[in-house]
Amino acid sequence: MEIGDGHIIYAFTSRAREHYRIRSGDTVVVHTPDCFGGLIRSEDQDWRDIDFERVNGAVGPIYVEGAEPGGVLKVEVVDVEVEGDRGVMAIIPGFGLLKEDLKDLSKLKICRIRNGYIEFNGLTLEATPMIGTIGVAPRGVEVPSVTPMDHGGNLDTKDVKAGNTIYFPVFVKGALLALGDCHAVMGDGEVCVTGVEVPARVTLRIHAMNNLSLKRPLIETGNEWMTIGNGKNLEEAARQATLDMMDIVQRKLGFSRGDAYMLLSAVGDLRISQVVDPLVTVRMALSKKYLKEAL
Ligand code: CA
Ligand code: CA
Repeated sequence: MEIGDGHIIYAFTSRAREHYRIRSGDTVVVHTPDCFGGLIRSEDQDWRDIDFERVNGAVGPIYVEGAEPGGVLKVEVVDVEVEGDRGVMAIIPGFGLLKEDLKDLSKLKICRIRNGYIEFNGLTLEATPMIGTIGVAPRGVEVPSVTPMDHGGNLDTKDVKAGNTIYFPVFVKGALLALGDCHAVMGDGEVCVTGVEVPARVTLRIHAMNNLSLKRPLIETGNEWMTIGNGKNLEEAARQATLDMMDIVQRKLGFSRGDAYMLLSAVGDLRISQVVDPLVTVRMALSKKYLKEAL
């Protein structure tokens, strides 16, 4: 199924009405606009051309038949392809890690993208397309699409890319998945507040797994499991990710709380996903050498 008419939401909420409907097991192709809705086309534009009421939109909601509250939605990222030949970066006053250090700096950059490479000031950057925003409807609250929380959303975690899988808790019937904000490439931290922002053609294979449960999104790569924590600061996010991975280690390996804590101290890796959204995001990665199954 191809989703190309671009119905966009700017908040994840159980009150959003389904706009698309798929079945568990379906493969779906979703065309997502860039995070500025295509409004930035030239470096000569002003950052004030950005419509802040209309940033970071997500295409959806996609109702997944069979997804029940309390279960898990498995989203395999089959492919993320850049659409078009350009990406946009922005430095916007009041945003980014260095907003206090670079108070008056604003800048827009358009990068050419060709054959999987991004031109940047004479350097050639290898594209590694990823999904910045992907999530399901939360329970009860309405979460703006710029904020990452337990339902996913603006996670800006570069492992959400082709070949990997992200699992979400399901809070409402049908899950109501939505996604957007793809990047041709993004570094851990996303320090200036954008990756190389692009429209994209995203291919997902989606399964409802009602015999499993989760509290927050979980990522599976070829060789690692990653819990994802969001918080007001890096410590809070890191604690969340670490506590979640400890729970998994205790449950799956039968470890005591102390031994799980020590295992993560020995071979678990905390990584910064992003430090620029309304909540920051940190992940805890543990090798599949030690943890074969996490769900
Ligand atoms: Ca983002
Ligand atoms: Ca972005």
